[in-house]
Amino acid sequence: MKNIIMLEIPFSFGEVNDVIYPVLLQDEKNLVLIDCGYIGFLPLIEQAIEDKGLDCHRLTHVVITHQDHDHMGALWALKQKYPQVQVVASEVEAPYISGTEKSLRLVQAEQMQELLPEEQKEFGLKFCELLRSVKTVPVDCCVKDGDVLDWCGGCKVIATPGHTPGHLSFSLEEGRTIVAGDAAVLENGRLIVANPQFALDLEQAKQSFQKITESGAQKIYCYHGGLWQTPEETK
Ligand SMILES: [Zn+2]
Repeated sequence: MKNIIMLEIPFSFGEVNDVIYPVLLQDEKNLVLIDCGYIGFLPLIEQAIEDKGLDCHRLTHVVITHQDHDHMGALWALKQKYPQVQVVASEVEAPYISGTEKSLRLVQAEQMQELLPEEQKEFGLKFCELLRSVKTVPVDCCVKDGDVLDWCGGCKVIATPGHTPGHLSFSLEEGRTIVAGDAAVLENGRLIVANPQFALDLEQAKQSFQKITESGAQKIYCYHGGLWQTPEETK
């Protein structure tokens, strides 16, 4: 039994409707959740997992592809309720996820705040407050580029820095499938670089995007946008 299961979590913030797509890796031994949504999203994640006929108490790991609040916002609540879950992230991201270093996104948002036009300053301040309210969680297991985890018959860690410095993606099924996190985003059927204006290193982000999209993978799971497939796969 080896299953790669995409969760679909629709939500609205005010008038904005959006969807995130965390991924579950299931095998006989492990149930691994890759990214876990915004602050307050634990019930949505639990419901989405239950809807797939799975039990959250069987979760063994949660992987955080990177430190952004839409990926780790619900991590603290998840770890409180399911303390058996091992938190996995890159060595580079771990200090930000565990709170020993200040979130780089918050540093960026605070720097941008000073440059924002007057009418956007309130929004900017609220965003900074939101980032400060993300509760941090110790990382139990650090992984790095090239590591092969014994999940779903072999899950290879791919370093995809740029969006954040320690961003990770994962290659499964001998490279035919990639879970990209935010290394690639699917928009209107096309793969694109995630929010280039917010990439902490845009050149790196572009290289990481190429690494993923030119890898020959037939399926790429994007946290924002969902599943991209090669035309042969879609038939
Ligand atoms: Zn994201």
